[in-house]
Amino acid sequence: MDYNNGEPVRAGRIRAAEFVNQGKSYRVVYFKTDSSHGDYYTPDGKSIRKAFLRSPLEFSRISSGFSLSRFHPVLNTWRAHKGVDYAAALGTKVKVTADGTVSFVGKQGGYGNVVIVEHQSRHTTVYGHLSRFASGLRRGQRVGQGDIIGFVGMTGLATGPHLHYEFMVNAQHRDPLRAALPDAAPLDNTQKLAFQEATRSLTARLGVLRDTNLAKLD
Ligand SMILES: [Zn+2]
Repeated sequence: MDYNNGEPVRAGRIRAAEFVNQGKSYRVVYFKTDSSHGDYYTPDGKSIRKAFLRSPLEFSRISSGFSLSRFHPVLNTWRAHKGVDYAAALGTKVKVTADGTVSFVGKQGGYGNVVIVEHQSRHTTVYGHLSRFASGLRRGQRVGQGDIIGFVGMTGLATGPHLHYEFMVNAQHRDPLRAALPDAAPLDNTQKLAFQEATRSLTARLGVLRDTNLAKLD
């Protein structure tokens, strides 16, 4: 909790928590990996976050799913739809679904304005029909999960504003709504030392809290 003149003003970030799911107890601790990024980790340093967001838009509806054969509304032919379309208002923010490096920013045929991002473990994501790109976005730029890379539009072959999103593993298209998503990278050895140092007292306090709660139940 953050305080102003002794009055609580808002809940601060939860630093450590213990929760029980299906009879199993889990502990998580918040740890900053650098000055602007942080995550929740188990006490042994494993991230509880997935490496990929399931969707690049917060509020949207799926207007066309992944399909090996669908009737294309502009081309008027049957062809594979190797991505997912999200209908959303023109200008809706598009977020990159995982940490990675931008490999393409520009126009490309039916995609219109498109951003392509390469990720760890040979994943690639594609964001098409954008109205515009995030300012200054360029090839080779490092991006973090959730960073805004562009805005929904209808450039290229599109009948209305929507985001066309593709998810590839080893250059093979996968359905992003069904594919198993890899876990976020664990802490490296240097980070792990700092993590253990920073979390020792927090996990000890969790232990005290748990004993207190158990005592109350007795
Ligand atoms: Zn599409």
